[in-house]
Amino acid sequence: MELREIEIFAPATIANISCGFDVMGCCLDSIGDTMILRKTSDKSVRISKIVGEELPMEPEKNVASVAIMAMLKACKVQPDFGFDIEIHKNIKPGSGIGSSAASAAGAVFAANELMGKPFSNHELIPFAAEGERVACGSPIADNVAPALLGGFTLVKETDPIKVIELPSIKGLYATIIHPQIEIKTSLSRDILPQNVSLKHAVKQWANVGSLVHALHTNDHTLFAESLKDYIVEPHRSKLIPKFDEVIKSAINAGALGGGISGSGPSIFTFSKDSKTADNVSIAINNIYKKTHIPYHVYTSKINETGVKILKRS
Ligand code: ADP
Repeated sequence: MELREIEIFAPATIANISCGFDVMGCCLDSIGDTMILRKTSDKSVRISKIVGEELPMEPEKNVASVAIMAMLKACKVQPDFGFDIEIHKNIKPGSGIGSSAASAAGAVFAANELMGKPFSNHELIPFAAEGERVACGSPIADNVAPALLGGFTLVKETDPIKVIELPSIKGLYATIIHPQIEIKTSLSRDILPQNVSLKHAVKQWANVGSLVHALHTNDHTLFAESLKDYIVEPHRSKLIPKFDEVIKSAINAGALGGGISGSGPSIFTFSKDSKTADNVSIAINNIYKKTHIPYHVYTSKINETGVKILKRS
């Protein structure tokens, strides 16, 4: 029977994993949006419904439709149908856990399924990244890559995009706090240093190397030691209330380490198992409930497969 409609889970992601600023990301499992894509008889790409957030419905302004249009441009044979997109948003835009990336990755994944899978998930990354251009001005892949591939990913090149899939530490969990404050993108960019000292650069690339090695060897101790950012975090963390206390209390509760998710304000931590992740969640809650800032704490295992199919009809 011909596939007419598909419902998918579009996962949230952590980008800028500490020393892996702008290159390393990973995929989450219990945080994400759902999307429904349907074939239509006219050949347009349209957004028919967005539930949960106020987001642009115009096809040229929403990352989901823009990503599909980028994919269609690259198709040798154009499909004889169009796409209707429905987005059920759970990931708050601007939270730092890849809200727009989930829509871009989910859209191209689902459209590719409806088209009979002309592309591999790797090949879908540049199209989803084109969708990201609408959200942040450039075709970045550090969130869409883990959303499409699952696990940990490293963006090796940006032009053309080349992504490396990395193994994940077995049983790894993330605990994330999203303080509901707005950090202006311009401020989080302007606060970045213009120059990097050689001393810090050496420490940083040693950590990126050892973080990758820790993932390959399933080495929790090395993973924890490598989760350090000497270049970006010391500056950006000033914009996130209680950042140092959150990381300190998480580590005291058993976390392996943490950092700023994306460009913030969310803070991520990693734990070796779900019980520790829950203890970390309690510790972080204890810090934030003393503030007057609304927040949400999530725990999730690492999603090894990326976007998931929920229903096909
Ligand atoms: P973060 O990674 O910090 O969660 P985003 O990458 O989600 O932030 O960026 C959110 C921006 O992308 C907002 O300006 C929002 O209007 C825009 N945007 C366009 N389409 C979407 C979509 N489908 N989902 C989420 N954000 C979208």
